[in-house]
Amino acid sequence: MNALLRHRRTPRFATIAAFGLIAWLLPYQLGGYAIHVVDIALVFALLAVGMGLAMGIAGQINLAQVAFFGVSAYATAILTTHEGLGFWPAALIALVATALIGLLVGIPALRMQSHYLGIVTLGLALGFINWTTNAEMAGGAEGISAIPVPPMFGVDLSSEYLYYYVEVVVFAAALAFGLFVVRTGLGRRMMAMRDDPLAAGAVGAQIPLLRMTAFMLSSVFGGLAGILYAGLIRYVAPDTFNIANMFLLLAMVVIGGRQSLVGCVVGAVGLTLIRERLVDYPTYAQLGFGVVVVLMVVFAPTGLAGIPARVRTMVDRRRGRTAERTALGPFRPYRPAEGGTGPDGEPVLEIREIAKHFRGLKALKDVSLTVRRGEIRGIVGPNGSGKTTLFNVISGFYRPSGGRVLLDGRVVSGSRPYRLSMLGVARTFQNLRLFGELSVRDNLLVALDRSRTRAIWRYALWPVGIWRQERRLHRRADELLDRFGLTGFAGAAPGALPYGIQRRIEIARAMASGPRLLLLDEPAAGLNGEEVRQLAEIVRSIRDSGVTVVLIEHNMGLVMSLCERVTVLAGGSVIAEGTPAEVVADHAVIEAYLGDSAMAGMPLPDTSEVTS
Ligand code: ADP
Ligand code: MG
Repeated sequence: MNALLRHRRTPRFATIAAFGLIAWLLPYQLGGYAIHVVDIALVFALLAVGMGLAMGIAGQINLAQVAFFGVSAYATAILTTHEGLGFWPAALIALVATALIGLLVGIPALRMQSHYLGIVTLGLALGFINWTTNAEMAGGAEGISAIPVPPMFGVDLSSEYLYYYVEVVVFAAALAFGLFVVRTGLGRRMMAMRDDPLAAGAVGAQIPLLRMTAFMLSSVFGGLAGILYAGLIRYVAPDTFNIANMFLLLAMVVIGGRQSLVGCVVGAVGLTLIRERLVDYPTYAQLGFGVVVVLMVVFAPTGLAGIPARVRTMVDRRRGRTAERTALGPFRPYRPAEGGTGPDGEPVLEIREIAKHFRGLKALKDVSLTVRRGEIRGIVGPNGSGKTTLFNVISGFYRPSGGRVLLDGRVVSGSRPYRLSMLGVARTFQNLRLFGELSVRDNLLVALDRSRTRAIWRYALWPVGIWRQERRLHRRADELLDRFGLTGFAGAAPGALPYGIQRRIEIARAMASGPRLLLLDEPAAGLNGEEVRQLAEIVRSIRDSGVTVVLIEHNMGLVMSLCERVTVLAGGSVIAEGTPAEVVADHAVIEAYLGDSAMAGMPLPDTSEVTS
């Protein structure tokens, strides 16, 4: 079996066949009203899946789903009744229009944080509701009736029984596509963005474009639902697209489980059925849904779909079967690069007179340094001296207030993090930033995926290409897991693992992007003596494979044993540079350290922790 099949919970053929059979036979068991309810439930299920993609998978608050739904239904209604178009041509135009509006909603995403975006989407929903009730074209409170029955090769789709089959086919195809997205590169990037947008950017995810994609995907599902609704009811009115239904939809997604598309479907179908039961008590129903949503958010934030996993974790914990029992494997060194390495190559990283000011605070003043190919450069300095800020400038998180950064002779300062990742800069973070809800393997897969975010057009036009790429990525993830001794943790959630293992996963993730420059921000912090020794071995092997390394570190033993040259920062300026031995004997350096009581924890020259 290939790697992909082994690692993914691919639904078995038998399961799909069983669902197909149930779906086929269901109408035979249902009365006229019941089939109507089921038809409505399928429309809501489509809406919920779209909303789940934006909210649960991509982490973008989307309160415009009901507006996407409405735009498409109204467009179909207007084009068929006012313009005299056939149902399907009208539906196609409606779908394209809805997708364009989805893109439009996503445009603020280029500049805005996601909670503001939530307000924008709510504004859009309210604006749309306003339009439907007031515009003459939309028929006001009366709405638009007499939408024609969709023609279908002579099959009479005015029968809700037959219409059901059309819906099932559209729904199954849409759900399959959604699941395909979630389980492949695009979905992983969106989930990485949800868990930690900064870290996702640092491994090559183009965040603004991904956010727009999330809204567009959501709107396409909303658009399909709108078309199906227009063909089913053949009448549209403002009532259907109001805020109450928006919140019902939100409840479906939260209760079902926003991080699982299947959960969204369960929530949508379940709540539609419950709502039908409570149709005589609408106020209580609303209130009840509200209470359940609050309870869910508090006690089961991953919704119904998340409960099995939570139960499994609980059982495992009770039986003492935690991931900690699996041993971290040994690190398998990289093959050394041809021609050997050493600090004598051409410059890879040139930092020229970089300054970074935070309002009044000058975190970096006029910092210059050059790192050559094959070097392990140490950067030391008291806390607050600007070391992390320097990394943030190099990796594109901060725009420098002055000066330039050159990578292989090219000016890269001012580039976005994903660009720098593509150019071969990788980093780890002082405070770990792993993607918490992704497995260890998926953490690596996000970084292994070097495709441009704009290559997502392939999802629409050439999914086979995506599938092939997935298989390649999974193979390489397996190799990488093995190299870093992480195979035993491949399926684990990183948050539950011991600190030392998380640190190693972060280095593996950085290496997954195939960098030429690796920035390590205090990688030994919190590690025990043996782990520090392993770290030294890993860093040396990475360098020997041809990657240039810059290492911020407080553990002077590690710095002394690994680095050919050390740069000392204090108060945002370089105060010394040279071999480790030169630097520790430097007067200014001793002064800087002794003058900073916060650095009491930092040993001056002490090689006891690392022996090489
Ligand atoms: P180091 O990594 O050497 O301990 P940092 O680079 O994290 O130091 O911080 C250097 C100085 O810049 C500190 O005084 C810190 O408070 C300040 N600083 C860092 N990032 C920001 C920020 N985003 N906004 C304001 N001040 C910051
Ligand atoms: Mg720091």
